[in-house]
Amino acid sequence: MDRIDRVEAMVVAHRLQRTFHFSQWHYDTRSVCLVKVTTRDGVVGWGEGYGPAGVVRAGVEFLAPLVVGEDPLQGENLWQRMFLRSVDYARRGVLVAAISAIDVALWDVRGRLLGLPVSVLLGGRRRESVRAYATGMYFSEAAGQIGALAREARGYADAGFSAIKMKVGLSVQEDIANVGAVREAVGEGVELMVDANHAYNLREAVALARAIEPFRIGWFEEPLSPEDYEGYRELRDRTTIPIAAGECEYLRSGFLQLFRNRSVDVAQPDLCAAGGLTEVKKIAAMAEAFGVEVAPHSWGTGIAIAAALQLLSNMDVAPGRMKMAEPILELDRTENPLRDELVVPRFEPRGGRVDVPAAPGLGVEVDEALLGKYRQA
Ligand SMILES: [Mg+2]
Repeated sequence: MDRIDRVEAMVVAHRLQRTFHFSQWHYDTRSVCLVKVTTRDGVVGWGEGYGPAGVVRAGVEFLAPLVVGEDPLQGENLWQRMFLRSVDYARRGVLVAAISAIDVALWDVRGRLLGLPVSVLLGGRRRESVRAYATGMYFSEAAGQIGALAREARGYADAGFSAIKMKVGLSVQEDIANVGAVREAVGEGVELMVDANHAYNLREAVALARAIEPFRIGWFEEPLSPEDYEGYRELRDRTTIPIAAGECEYLRSGFLQLFRNRSVDVAQPDLCAAGGLTEVKKIAAMAEAFGVEVAPHSWGTGIAIAAALQLLSNMDVAPGRMKMAEPILELDRTENPLRDELVVPRFEPRGGRVDVPAAPGLGVEVDEALLGKYRQA
């Protein structure tokens, strides 16, 4: 029997050429904590955590001794061991992201040990490619922002994307103008989602939602504080736009609150934060029982994208029908060589779809030579 020999956490970072903003903050650097698990027989698996990279790294270093020396095939048991060691201090947040990073790496290891892609280990491949939406249209401080947003949106449509997501959350009036310009730029044939990153109170969110209903919005993401479960339910009652949230939610217990309160139409667990593939598979099953759609949040490197693709290949979409509905992949399009360069194959959408890797594990290889270029510690 093979055993886990090493769990290494490493921060990789890239200083952006152009700073960009969303409703809460700005980004001038992209950084992430990667996790490399190596077995005694030399099998290597990769994962990553979503959240402040240095803090996630500390979490992985805290948890690593719990899995070193253990059988990597004991996925549920190892997850439970990490969870029980952290639950007293961290039922949400970056320590759960650290569990997620190790969990994803262990799925990669198991797939490689067994010679099967993770999607097969999850229960089977329902689809070989997944429709993707382009995440972009962040804010900048440059003049003429509304024109830039419209041009960027048009570029995604021209590249074949059938769905795109833009930022809102500046102010209700600016948002209405920006959304109108983007809708006009892409025409009626492209699905358009908006994301406020919890910028608004209920009154503002209702005002914005009603004003942009005529632009046929696919979903309104994180309109309100992630703590305001009741507010989400009331907003759902007051707009025809589907409501999405979950990138700030963790574990089954967190998503249960969203579902019980009827807070969302679309749940967005991040595989690298909410508890890993092990936990998000369960969250997806719970969502189905509550009649909630699942569209995982994904904003990391090619490792995170590969993990999302493996889950989406396997994921059920309820209710069944002859012409089945499909889940959708979030594909960040902002400047990020950590996403574009670190793994092969690169995820290049064709006709707005991305192929699900069929190689063992997550189905991607990390370019360790390039890793040195971005590695901080
Ligand atoms: Mg979001």
